[in-house]
Amino acid sequence: GEIATMMDVPITKVIGTCMSLGIMVTMNQRLDAETLTIVADEFGYEVQFITTDIEENIEVIEDNPEDLTHRAPIVTVMGHVDHGKTSLLDYIRKANVIAGESGGITQHIGAYSVTLEAGQKITFLDTPGHEAFTAMRARGAQVTDIAIIVIAADDDIMPQTKEAISHAQAAGVPMIFAINKVDKQTANPDKIKEKLASMNLLVEEWGGKYQSHDISAKMGMGVTELLEKVLLEAEILELKANPNKPAQGTVVEAQLDKGRGYVSTILVQAGTLKIGDYLLAGKNHGKIRAMFDERGHTVKEAGPSTPVSILGLDGAPTAGDKFNVYEDEREAKQIAAKRTQLMREQSVRTQKHITLSEIGRRIALGQFKELNIILKGDVDGSVEALSDSFSKLSTEEIQINIIHKGVGAITESDVLLASASDAIIIGFNVRPAGNAKALAEKEEIDIRNYSIIYAAIDDLKDAMEGMLSPEL
Ligand code: GDP
Repeated sequence: GEIATMMDVPITKVIGTCMSLGIMVTMNQRLDAETLTIVADEFGYEVQFITTDIEENIEVIEDNPEDLTHRAPIVTVMGHVDHGKTSLLDYIRKANVIAGESGGITQHIGAYSVTLEAGQKITFLDTPGHEAFTAMRARGAQVTDIAIIVIAADDDIMPQTKEAISHAQAAGVPMIFAINKVDKQTANPDKIKEKLASMNLLVEEWGGKYQSHDISAKMGMGVTELLEKVLLEAEILELKANPNKPAQGTVVEAQLDKGRGYVSTILVQAGTLKIGDYLLAGKNHGKIRAMFDERGHTVKEAGPSTPVSILGLDGAPTAGDKFNVYEDEREAKQIAAKRTQLMREQSVRTQKHITLSEIGRRIALGQFKELNIILKGDVDGSVEALSDSFSKLSTEEIQINIIHKGVGAITESDVLLASASDAIIIGFNVRPAGNAKALAEKEEIDIRNYSIIYAAIDDLKDAMEGMLSPEL
C-alpha cells in the first residue's frame, strides 16, 4: 500500500506485479528490500534506501593495518554433559597464576584470562556449552575465536558432542579436541579418535588437520599442552585489534548485585575501555564508575580480549549485546531510547528467517545461494538417507548444507542454531521437545515434520522450484 502511494499507481497493480514474481501479498504487507527494488523498477522507479539502522550513529572507522596489534584468543569450551567442561575450566582457572599473583581466580564473572608461563594470554568464556555460544550468535555476537571440544575417553561421541561440533562448524570457529578422563582405566582415546575420523574429523597425529590432546581435567594432565595447542591455533588465525580507540565489545553476563547495583561483565574486543567512559550496551547505558578483573582487583583500563566487570550501567544488558563507548553522553542516551522503541516495534516485525515456502522466491530473486538445514530423525538410517538425498538436490544456483543432523527430538539448541545460521529444521518422525516449539515460534523458525522420506524430498524439490504452497 505504502509503495503504491509513493509511486502513485493503483495498489492492485503493485499486488499484480508481486504475484507475477510469485509473491502473494496483501496491501498491508511489508516487502523486503530486494522485492521493493524489483517492484519499483517495474514502474520505472529507482529505490534509494535511507538507513534507519540503530547502529547508524556508530562511526565505523576502518583500522589502519599498522595500528593493529596482537590480541589474545577467546576460547569457549563445549561438549556433552559430564564429559568434563566445568572441570577443565576450573582446573585452568585454579592452576594458572599470573606471575607475582598469589592464588587462582576465585570470582566468577563469566569470563577470565590466564597467562601462560611464556607470558602469552588466553581468555576463556566461563559459561561452557554450545547453547550459550549459539544463543550469543543468534543475537549477532561472535566472540569466540577457538572452540575446545571436550570428549570423555571412557564414553563415546555423544549427541551433544555432535551438536557442539555442528555449532562450532556452523560458526566457522576452529576446533581443538580435548580427549578427557584419560586417567581412567576404562579410557580409550583411540576409539574416540577413530569415531572422529569416521565423521571426517581426522586428528593431527593421524595425519588430519584437527589438533587434539589427551587430558585429565581432574588431575591436570596434559592441560598445559592443550593450551599450547590453543596458542598455536591462535597464531594461525593472526588475531589482531587496534587498542588505541574507544572500546567496543560484547556483554557476557549481567546481574543486579544488592550492594553494588548493576554489575555487567563485558569482553573488550577492540579499543581500550577506561574508567569514566560513557558506555552503551544494548539499551542500557551509563558512565563506568569502576572496573574489576576476574581476581576482584580494580583495573583502570581494559584492552582487546580482556574481560572486565563494570559498575555504572542503568540496568542489566543481555548476554550477546554489543557495546560501544560514546564521547557524548546525550548521543548515547538518544540511541538507547531509539533502541528501546525499535525493540518494541520489533515484536510486530516481519519474518526474519527463511521458510521452506519462501525459498523458491528468494532463489528467483537471485541473492539466495545457500540453504542451511538442520535434520533430526528417529533413527540413524533415515537421517542418513535424508541427508544424502537432500545434499544431492544442490544445484548450480543453490547449495544445500546440512549444518547439523542427529537422532532425537528437535531441541531448543537446534532452534538456536537455526536462528543463528538462518536454517530450517526438518524433523523425521520426531517433534519439538520441551520449549523448542515455543522458541521456534518466537524466533520464527520454520520446522517441517515428515514421516515419509520421499514426501520430505519432494517438498524440498518443490520449494527450490518455487512450487511449494505455504503450509497453513
Ligand atoms: P560437564 O558437565 O561437562 O561440565 O562435566 P564436569 O566437569 O561437571 O564433570 C563431570 C564428572 O566427571 C565430574 O564428576 C568430574 O569430577 C568428572 N571428571 C571430569 N574430568 C575428569 C577427569 O579427567 N578424570 C576423571 N576421572 N573424572 C573426571
